[in-house]
Amino acid sequence: MISRRDFIKLCMSTAVSMSLTERLLPLVGQAYGEKRAVKPPVIWLELGSCTGNSVSLENAVNPSLDQMLTDMIDLRYHWLFSAEQGDGAVRAMLETVEQESGNFWLVIEGAVMTADHGRYNEIFRRDGQMITGLAAVQEFAPKAKYVIAVGDCACFGGPSAAHPNPAGATGVWKVIQSKVINIPGCPAHPDWMSGTFAHLSLYGLPELDGYNRPVMFFGKTIHELCQRRQQYEDGIFAKFPGDQGCLYKVGCKGPVTHADCPLRQWNHYVNWPVKAGAPCIGCASPHFPDGMMPFYQHLPEIRTPAVAANVQKFGAALAALGIGAVATHWAAGIFARRIHKHYVKGTKPIEPTAPENLTQVKQELDDLIRRQNALLAEAERLPGIQKARSKKKLLARVNDFLRAEDKSGDEG
Ligand code: SF4
Repeated sequence: MISRRDFIKLCMSTAVSMSLTERLLPLVGQAYGEKRAVKPPVIWLELGSCTGNSVSLENAVNPSLDQMLTDMIDLRYHWLFSAEQGDGAVRAMLETVEQESGNFWLVIEGAVMTADHGRYNEIFRRDGQMITGLAAVQEFAPKAKYVIAVGDCACFGGPSAAHPNPAGATGVWKVIQSKVINIPGCPAHPDWMSGTFAHLSLYGLPELDGYNRPVMFFGKTIHELCQRRQQYEDGIFAKFPGDQGCLYKVGCKGPVTHADCPLRQWNHYVNWPVKAGAPCIGCASPHFPDGMMPFYQHLPEIRTPAVAANVQKFGAALAALGIGAVATHWAAGIFARRIHKHYVKGTKPIEPTAPENLTQVKQELDDLIRRQNALLAEAERLPGIQKARSKKKLLARVNDFLRAEDKSGDEG
């Protein structure tokens, strides 16, 4: 078996002649065959979500999804992918929880709805009772070997928890005591999922950052890895999405988002938003989406790269004075923190306020309705008007004809 270090290198490499899953499957297959690892029984619950992460997993085109779900893991329950549906599928899931207690992995997609004891998200029926996502997670997680949250909703609440969040959506790690491995993204990249699964099978828990994200996939910011980074450094900025240049001034959140999208790319390593001309909206961030808005606006408080350049020059000057790399890092760190603070703390949505002048709004609405009604009435009268017009035209033509006839009579 390859060393853990080599495994991580493999996961971080971007040689795309083969998919990551395709490269990992033989490794886990060999380990299972030699009984150095055991294929894990997996229960995949979907809570408050759009199923995007399951769909993303289907992008694992080579090998196919079913190969991955059977050869890498032993998927016992997934409401969408399970061959069995209804009570039979639920029974298989509950049996796995009991019989494989301490062994099974609990994968969760979607946010946990916590308002009103979780009743806005009921995910299966047991003994005639609907069970909420919140109750299922709290019951299953303590028995699971690993709890893995996939997608930004399961990790941090994501779009499900966007303002005003009436269902109290939140990330899994907020409602249980067990450690949760967070694989964010909206959706998560299939490689991030298959790479983490393979690491868990072969070597156990991967190195995680402060947000419990695997460092091998989320250790660097998008900005650090971006193909447009040189344009950022050179101060060449796009004026609109799709334009040439760095997308920083049209709202790119690459500087505050940790993920390896620029290297890995999406849809089987074809492209990713910034390369296609759209600014990163920070979908793998713990603060997505509220803290990443407005998506397409450069926030006025953000300092431009000129400041960054100064910071870097300042750091370089310190380095030249012999104070060294720590000072350079410190100076750059101040800049990064400042950006982060403005992006994340400065953009929280506020409660919508009532229009200042309700009477005026009402008058404008009444006026709109009046104009619309007038248009409708005119449209109804239109066929009659057209008929009258053509009758008038016909009469005019008859009169013209008769006048012409009279004239010719005179001449005769
Ligand atoms: S700001 Fe965005 S587009 Fe510009 S270099 Fe950074 S990640 Fe790339």
